[in-house]
Amino acid sequence: MKPSFNPPVAERRQIDTRSIQALDSAHYMHPFTDTRELGLRGARVIVRGEGIYVWDSEGKKILDAMSGLWCVNIGYGRSELAQAAYMQMMELPYYNSFFNTTNVPAVKLAAKLCELAPRVGDRSFTHVFFSSSGSESNDTNIRMVRHYWASLGQSERKIIISRKNGYHGSTIGGASLGGMQGMHEQGDLPIPGIVHIDQPYFSNNALAGESEHDFGLRLARQLEEKILELGAHRVAAFIGEPIQGAGGVIIPPASYWPEIQRIVDKYGILLISDEVICAFGRLGSWFAYEQLGYKPDLVTFAKGVTSGYAPLGGVMVGDRVAKVLIEKGGEFNHGYTYSGHPVACQVALANLEWMEREHVVERIKDDTGPYLSECFAALNEHPLVGDARSYGFMAGLLLMKNKATGERFSPDTGVGMACRAHCFGNGLVMRAVGDRMIIAPPLVMTRADIDDMMKLIIQCLDLTLSEAKNKGWC
Ligand code: PMP
Repeated sequence: MKPSFNPPVAERRQIDTRSIQALDSAHYMHPFTDTRELGLRGARVIVRGEGIYVWDSEGKKILDAMSGLWCVNIGYGRSELAQAAYMQMMELPYYNSFFNTTNVPAVKLAAKLCELAPRVGDRSFTHVFFSSSGSESNDTNIRMVRHYWASLGQSERKIIISRKNGYHGSTIGGASLGGMQGMHEQGDLPIPGIVHIDQPYFSNNALAGESEHDFGLRLARQLEEKILELGAHRVAAFIGEPIQGAGGVIIPPASYWPEIQRIVDKYGILLISDEVICAFGRLGSWFAYEQLGYKPDLVTFAKGVTSGYAPLGGVMVGDRVAKVLIEKGGEFNHGYTYSGHPVACQVALANLEWMEREHVVERIKDDTGPYLSECFAALNEHPLVGDARSYGFMAGLLLMKNKATGERFSPDTGVGMACRAHCFGNGLVMRAVGDRMIIAPPLVMTRADIDDMMKLIIQCLDLTLSEAKNKGWC
């Protein structure tokens, strides 16, 4: 792969960490953060990035195994994307797509995305609705599926079925679709018309002696039970992440998605694939549904479409939905100021072009993805690791108190947070979700980069094991 990073900037601005931290604590309210607690410890100030690494204001180099927040897929410092943004800003920094107007980057990107989304069976993607984030896109989904059914004269079809521990964003709509208990508790969520079934998390929800195959079928069939309980005539759609990301990289058994497809087909319910994390190469294909064996009607995307260089999201609208909305006519009373933002769309085009030129998706599928799988599965030998597995460039492992008995750590040990602290301390970003440690590395990692990352992961697991023993957690 050709290096195309910016030449190093000779004189970097000197940053006074303490004063930035003081201003941060005085004025900046961070997402998903206890502001008081952060004020006491001081935020880590990230000042630059190059390739798969970021640097903090103290000069510490950190391997970013989370691609920022599952998004910097082509790595930091790609000058082509900066150039694309600059040129577009100079030419047309903004114009809206309301009132019968359009702009060239948005049109080109919509066409490109429809070209990349594979046709499956009789389904294809003909249109795109743009937003600026995953959350907004899922709000669009709620509006769009209800509008679709109303256009067909079935306005009682309003309910969307989702899953516990799923993540679909943080707006009122996104957080309601999601199944995060902590988010629901703050603010009377979910909103009416959204119900949840269990997640297909084998280590958590399997019955004694149940095979992964049977478990996948049983969990998918919860959807059918829920549809029958609610009445199919009231159910608009089912939404799920192909692989749950924020919930801890939960990879469903291979039997799960085809069974979900059978059920939605049987009852004529729309299927929404939330691919905010999984699309654009992370699983070794442009879109995830083609790998997992199902045919969604709507696909949520964001993050990787621009590799995080500009905020952009949207919904891929399959022909089943697009046809009805177009043929029935009438205005869809929904949209955002930044729908089809020309700069974000131009950055996305540059990102997709770069990925195609460098064969990023093929490399994940045929080379680095299988290699990561092999390396990550070897972690199962570690005394602290219960279940390490990956799919493409998403991987998760379970920290286990006793591998022989399958006993888990008590949540009050905070073992995941302890492991995360060792990672940060040793120059690695690895995320903790309860007792699971997860990674979603930049898709441009080479085999040598994967080796470097695995060394750091093992070192941090060793340190966590020592701490757990010292503190009597295991
Ligand atoms: N859906 C999924 C599957 C996500 O992982 C996320 C973000 N992690 C979102 C939606 C929300 O995206 P955003 O933060 O851009 O609103």
